[in-house]
Amino acid sequence: MTLYVYNTLSRSKEEFVPLQGNTVRMYVCGPTVYDYPHIGNARSFAVFDTIRRYLEYKGYRVTFVTNITDIDDKMIARAREEGTTVRELAARFTEEYLRIARELNLKPATVNPRATEHIDDMIDMIQHIVDNGKAYVVDGDVYFDVAGHEQYGVLSRISKDELAAGARVEVDEKKRDPRDFALWKAEKPGEPSWESPWGRGRPGWHIECSAMGARFLGLPFDIHGGGQDLIFPHHENEIAQSSAAYNIDTPVKYWLHNGFLTIDKEKMSKSEGNFYTAREVLDRHDHQAVRLYLVSAHYRQPLDFNEAALEQAQHSLDRLRNAAELLRGRIRVLEKAGDRAKGSDRELKESVARLREGFERAMDDDFNTPSALAEIFTFVRDVNTLAPEVGSAGTLREALAALTEVVGVLGIDLSGGAQTVGAGAAALVEGLIGLLLEIREEARAAKDYATADRIRARLGELGVVVADTKDGPTWKIAR
Ligand SMILES: [Zn+2]
Repeated sequence: MTLYVYNTLSRSKEEFVPLQGNTVRMYVCGPTVYDYPHIGNARSFAVFDTIRRYLEYKGYRVTFVTNITDIDDKMIARAREEGTTVRELAARFTEEYLRIARELNLKPATVNPRATEHIDDMIDMIQHIVDNGKAYVVDGDVYFDVAGHEQYGVLSRISKDELAAGARVEVDEKKRDPRDFALWKAEKPGEPSWESPWGRGRPGWHIECSAMGARFLGLPFDIHGGGQDLIFPHHENEIAQSSAAYNIDTPVKYWLHNGFLTIDKEKMSKSEGNFYTAREVLDRHDHQAVRLYLVSAHYRQPLDFNEAALEQAQHSLDRLRNAAELLRGRIRVLEKAGDRAKGSDRELKESVARLREGFERAMDDDFNTPSALAEIFTFVRDVNTLAPEVGSAGTLREALAALTEVVGVLGIDLSGGAQTVGAGAAALVEGLIGLLLEIREEARAAKDYATADRIRARLGELGVVVADTKDGPTWKIAR
């Protein structure tokens, strides 16, 4: 069946056709690790994880890159407020982000590049833009020349005139035009800085994503995701930078944006007090219920956060777990007693086929998760009615496998059963983690950051948190 996705670039649903055969190259804007992510950030994480999982369900090989912004204005301002270093702040909140990722059952990214490990890539891209005459240097700052870039505004559809009117407010003497934005910022006292052809300084935020996307996915790539609030200026600037650096008209084929999250129907606002961090919510609720809640609305629609919605998600999750338990219980009984053919077998098989068909129809329509969930709960009702009457363990196993697979796309894990390890296994685990960290250090020494990041991310998925200290890496099991 054909997948249709809503592309912000064209403002319409388009048939999804990857640029290269069966592979999908996908980039999602990740966290700036200066504070606890809020529940709206968690929505974006969960939404794009589900989109990635559905692409994999359809048989695509997905390379999924999501960055960690560990240097930008917010990082510097917060570190100063707290009297700490940018590096310490980044380490603390990167760990918090990876913990949220585990708790929300996000599939680890293929790569989680850190901005500070890719300054060379950013400098290289800026140099290309300068060489192509689309950027200029003033006193160690480098600015993108918006007026000189024809396609500027292609994503946000904000005209250059509107932009000029809006930008006049913040006048910067160094810029030729108030619409221009910084690619490189000259060093200021007390700020982290790196050597560059324009003197010491640091990258602007927008160039970070462009450079890391190009580095790990090549250009053009298939999907770029993020919250709607990033369309302008962040994603508009990303397109401008990538196309100006490499003379590519369309550096990304599909732009996907998730909707806002409101609290009790009000816009989330720290100053108004209606604001929740992901941590507050995850500490008070079943993690899987939070995940289910986050994907319960269509990803482009607003999602309201309120206690009733969380209770509803918990109730739905319990129904899924009960259906899986009912199937497991019946399978055990029939494995002992032996199969007896019954009329309900055929009915349950038909219901499995309807589940898969309905689920795929819903998800193929721009990842319509509420409609997919409706199909899943129709199936759960069938299971509750039919499973006690089914005579073949094979039919029940098929039903359990289908249910587990489709809810798995939404990030819900029905496999159940915590695993424990004995003392011998614990020593083995210790040795294996030590070995992986050795390989990771070698990869870092050889500047193979993709491998190093992957080892750290995969360990993170297993609950092993790696911290880099001046004496080398340490690790602990987070749960
Ligand atoms: Zn970004």
